[in-house]
Amino acid sequence: MSKGRIAIIGAGPGGMSTALAAHRAGFEVSIYERYPEVKPAGNILNLWPPPQKVLGLIGVDTTDLGAPALTTFRRADGHLRATVRLPDEVVTEYGGGFIGLLRWGLYKRMLDALPPGVLKLGHEMTRFEDHGDRVVVHLADREPVEADVLVGGDGLRSAVRRQLWGDQPIRHQHLHLVGGYLYVDDPQRPPDSVIAHNRNTQASYTPILHDGQWGYEWWVLEACDPSAPFDEDLMAFSRARAAGFSEKLRSMIDATPAENLQRWEIRDRRPLKQWSQGRVTLVGDAAHPTSPYAAYGAGMSIEDGYFLASELERIDVHDLGSVRRALQAFEDRRKPHTRRVSQQAFFTGYAFHRIPRPLRPLRDLVYDHTPMLQKVVGDATPDHILSQLAEIDQVEAARPATPAAATPQP
Ligand SMILES: Cc1cc2nc3c(=O)[nH]c(=O)nc-3n(C[C@H](O)[C@H](O)[C@H](O)COP(=O)(O)OP(=O)(O)OC[C@H]3O[C@@H](n4cnc5c(N)ncnc54)[C@H](O)[C@@H]3O)c2cc1C
Repeated sequence: MSKGRIAIIGAGPGGMSTALAAHRAGFEVSIYERYPEVKPAGNILNLWPPPQKVLGLIGVDTTDLGAPALTTFRRADGHLRATVRLPDEVVTEYGGGFIGLLRWGLYKRMLDALPPGVLKLGHEMTRFEDHGDRVVVHLADREPVEADVLVGGDGLRSAVRRQLWGDQPIRHQHLHLVGGYLYVDDPQRPPDSVIAHNRNTQASYTPILHDGQWGYEWWVLEACDPSAPFDEDLMAFSRARAAGFSEKLRSMIDATPAENLQRWEIRDRRPLKQWSQGRVTLVGDAAHPTSPYAAYGAGMSIEDGYFLASELERIDVHDLGSVRRALQAFEDRRKPHTRRVSQQAFFTGYAFHRIPRPLRPLRDLVYDHTPMLQKVVGDATPDHILSQLAEIDQVEAARPATPAAATPQP
């Protein structure tokens, strides 16, 4: 028997993870996605060990999901500034710092794990009404649906968030990036992932594995004026920005097919103080949009779905007081981690690309000749990763006896 109905808006990593975790917990789950197909926004992606662990727990096949990589921060000429050092057992289990993959590879694995009938495409949420005993979800050109809990996994421009908390401004980080990927026949072992900076630009690469094919993804990132139109050729732009970086990176860019290039302007929002209200909550970018500088936005969205389901599975979702407490416990657990990652991503982007030009030589002196970057990025990131892995272990150990998964409604 179903433990209750969970309606999720959006079939991004956050929505799909919530659906899979809630299904595992015995809920009747529906994802309402506005588009007629699931469309990954973008191509390149890296995933840290905690989201990899969550994916495995909620039924996603993570075998060869991505290419393992050991990450170093370097100056453009190769001088080592920091190493992301995870303990050996984590490196052995998850393949290093993070894995590199194509976004579609992740979506495909998550879609494959969803039970039939859960995903409802071409269903755009327009508004909801929280009646206290249930939520009524209104969909464009369709009959409304009811649920016991509504989860907004609808991304940076979340309509659920807007209805709950109003329309806070999007923060433009005055940064943009061009990223691309290519396949190679002969992958490098051990695979290295290099995050490199010169005084103004980041130019980085990491190995990828997609559908059994090895390759590399790379990106160049720098400050931009969001009010200025961008009409440069992406390949010419990338080559120019990668000048002075390693030969390896430059040859990767040269070998990348033009159709594998994409540009993004980087935006986020300030972290919300409160996510949930009544029977409604938020996951992923809807709650804490994060700059790609952290390479963790999708990862945190995946973690959110897992931790949300772990709170809901312990309660009777028909009881409003229990739902409120569970949603509050979920966000109280998640806010310190997600706030820290998104604020750190914002400030790292600022420090590398937007501090006043006269200060940049001094910044580089500090990064090159003191352990500061090792402390702030190289050591702090593993600590943070390990704390998330430990939290997942605790939650797994405390789970109630496995309920029968609910049969999804067609
Ligand atoms: C260039 C770039 C590189 C990145 N690299 C990384 C990385 O390496 N690692 C990492 O972890 N993260 C990375 N990120 C961040 C990551 O992409 C996001 O954090 C992640 O996609 C957020 O997932 P989500 O499910 O919360 O939202 P989204 O992926 O935005 O999904 C939201 C979904 O909701 C749907 N939707 C929206 N409104 C409605 C509505 N009203 N009704 C129904 N459906 C709706 C949308 O169509 C969409 O499918 C990167 C981002 C960028 C831009």
